[in-house]
Amino acid sequence: MAETRIPPIRIEPPLPGRAFALYAQRLPGYEERLQQAVATLQQAACAHAGRIVQASSLGAEDMVITDLIVRHRLPVAVAVIDTGRLHAETLALRQRAMAHWGIALEVWQPDTAEVRAFEAEHGADAMYRSPALRHACCGLRKVEPLRRLLAGRTAWITGLRREQSGQRAGVSLLDLDETGRAKVNPLADWRWADVWHYLQTHGVPYNPLHDAFMPSIGCAPCTRPIAVGEDFRAGRWWWEDDPRRECGLHLSGAAATPLPLSVAES
Ligand code: SF4
Repeated sequence: MAETRIPPIRIEPPLPGRAFALYAQRLPGYEERLQQAVATLQQAACAHAGRIVQASSLGAEDMVITDLIVRHRLPVAVAVIDTGRLHAETLALRQRAMAHWGIALEVWQPDTAEVRAFEAEHGADAMYRSPALRHACCGLRKVEPLRRLLAGRTAWITGLRREQSGQRAGVSLLDLDETGRAKVNPLADWRWADVWHYLQTHGVPYNPLHDAFMPSIGCAPCTRPIAVGEDFRAGRWWWEDDPRRECGLHLSGAAATPLPLSVAES
């Protein structure tokens, strides 16, 4: 097994409230974007009653959406994927979220035997050694659980926004994933300032890692803080050259098959 080359990132202790101070702003058009998001969720919940789910990463956008679901009493399930490599702060937020809203969250996990077999062959931090191994890890820990989460459901709700990256510039409010399932992106045209204005004005809990300059939070080994001026998603898989890097959840709509356990390292 090759040695892991990427050292762990040291994270500065979060400063509570810093994200609000940095980002929250009431921009022109905020009320219209909020009303549009609510209307989009209401229409989707009605059209897919009993078969719609929010796939939440517990990131800032997803916390807005869950708050809208609860506040407007929409019949939408809320699910999270516990990859087994999440930050302690994210796991703690899951508990805080359930207590805050008084709802149960569905928790989906990867197949334990497949993860053990992968780690036995490639090591726990194989993601640093090659894009193929990184995608294999995302396939096992994210894409495959998402596929089970979505089985039997006709629509899913995401926190994708056009502003997040060039890769997401074409996101629309209502979309179809590659399986033909409805994909609802109620915050498609929201700005980062809108997200934080909503969280602040509605008292919604959020991941304290956002205060540590992590606008986009994934698994602990694959997320670092960003510097001023860096791209919104620059802290995700930062050692890879491909500027379009994603985990596979939104490239495939969970249609892709996770890569096999035996993966070339180059
Ligand atoms: Fe694995 Fe990193 Fe992908 Fe998480 S983000 S599933 S740890 S490669």
